[in-house]
Amino acid sequence: MTQVKKTKKTASRRGRPSKPRKPKFAKIKVQLPKGVHDILPEEQAYWEKFRTIVSQVAKNYGFQRIDVPIFEDIRLYQKGTGLSTDIVQKEIYTIKTRGEEILALRPEFTPGIVRAYIEHGMKNLPQPVKLFTTGSLFRHDKPQAGRYRQFNQIDFEIIGDHSGVSDAQIIQVFLTIFRKLGLKKPELFINSIGCSICVPDYKKALLTHYRRDINNLCFDCKKRYKENPLRLLDCKKERCKKLASKAPHVIDFLCDECKNHFKEVLEFLDEMDIAYNLNPYLVRGLDYYTKTVFEIFGQEKGSQSTLVGGGRYDNLVEMFKGKSTPAVGAAAGMERIIEELKKQDVKVVKNDKPRVFIIQLGDLGKKKSLKLFEEFQKNNIKVGEAFSKPSIKSQLRIADKLGSELALILGQKEALENSIIIRDMVSGAQETIPLEKIINEVKKRLKK
Ligand code: AMP
Repeated sequence: MTQVKKTKKTASRRGRPSKPRKPKFAKIKVQLPKGVHDILPEEQAYWEKFRTIVSQVAKNYGFQRIDVPIFEDIRLYQKGTGLSTDIVQKEIYTIKTRGEEILALRPEFTPGIVRAYIEHGMKNLPQPVKLFTTGSLFRHDKPQAGRYRQFNQIDFEIIGDHSGVSDAQIIQVFLTIFRKLGLKKPELFINSIGCSICVPDYKKALLTHYRRDINNLCFDCKKRYKENPLRLLDCKKERCKKLASKAPHVIDFLCDECKNHFKEVLEFLDEMDIAYNLNPYLVRGLDYYTKTVFEIFGQEKGSQSTLVGGGRYDNLVEMFKGKSTPAVGAAAGMERIIEELKKQDVKVVKNDKPRVFIIQLGDLGKKKSLKLFEEFQKNNIKVGEAFSKPSIKSQLRIADKLGSELALILGQKEALENSIIIRDMVSGAQETIPLEKIINEVKKRLKK
């Protein structure tokens, strides 16, 4: 046997066992990366209500859910969203795979949904195909209020219809969601940016308008002047905004088809009593839009407060080698809408409080309570519990705080006798009944 030499320290403790040493490991402090956020349990009621309303409205208006991957071939966004857009030039998150493929985290839904429409032969389904989705998107933008690097959108698309009725229906869907959420006074701004026949003339007119002041434009607008003059109207810098406010109106350049289409959309909106503001300078930041473009705002009208953005994209399916197919869609930021609801003081009632609460005492009481808890699950009755608390007082306090109407007490005595105490939490009246009768008794009392 090896003799263990006593050290000075252990010897001085006179035979008392030495304290177990704490394991040593390296510690690091971790924090959220910039521009992302947690959605904490107390926030979830808003999200749950929002998602439920979106699914209900989608069903009512005949939209089917689609889920597209979080990452796709980067060319989908370069070609679809557009090489000259801020999203692709500055904000896209890329992933280089081991096979040297370049993928991108989705910065928006439309290109992925259009890809799925083509890839799954949805042109063979009855047209139009009406799809919706919700989920996270990623843009490496400068984080600020209402602008995140990971955020969530709801997205609705109607693919395969050229009529203005689809543009109006997409707008209507979002307004219905807002009404059901209780969001007050959403304001719609709308414009038409024409098609590949009429927009070139408008672009020429814009270039002429800006030519004299080209040196006064901001760095980005100098690039836009060369690459995508429509986006000059979208700039948020004061000096560029001033120039934009005197620019020619696109509406004066629309071809007959685009003019009639826009007229048709506005007539449908009038018919549906949807108020709108015409904004001749609304162009939206993405390359694929044709004809109708629109935005919906809440109380604030700044660039960080657009709640919904959308429009028609009649060329996108064809751009991805699909058959020429007209389409229209829009997306709304969930975070921004929830923030708007809070600003407008719209409360969401949480309806997840258990009306019944199990209280247990002693080992046997706890064991039987676990079993009883499962019985309630099978009967679809929500019950509260505090299995980790040993005292009846603290458990009753929790039941009271949760607003439970009935407390079911299973102590050592009751567990041995196969009985249970049922306590009315309002009157304090108690009754002991056989354990096997408790589910029916609770059902009876909850019905009253
Ligand atoms: P877009 O896809 O850029 O047309 O945006 C549609 C909607 O998504 C906007 O109106 C916002 O509500 C929301 N949104 C866009 N970008 C962000 C962002 N970085 N953070 C939070 N919400 C956003």
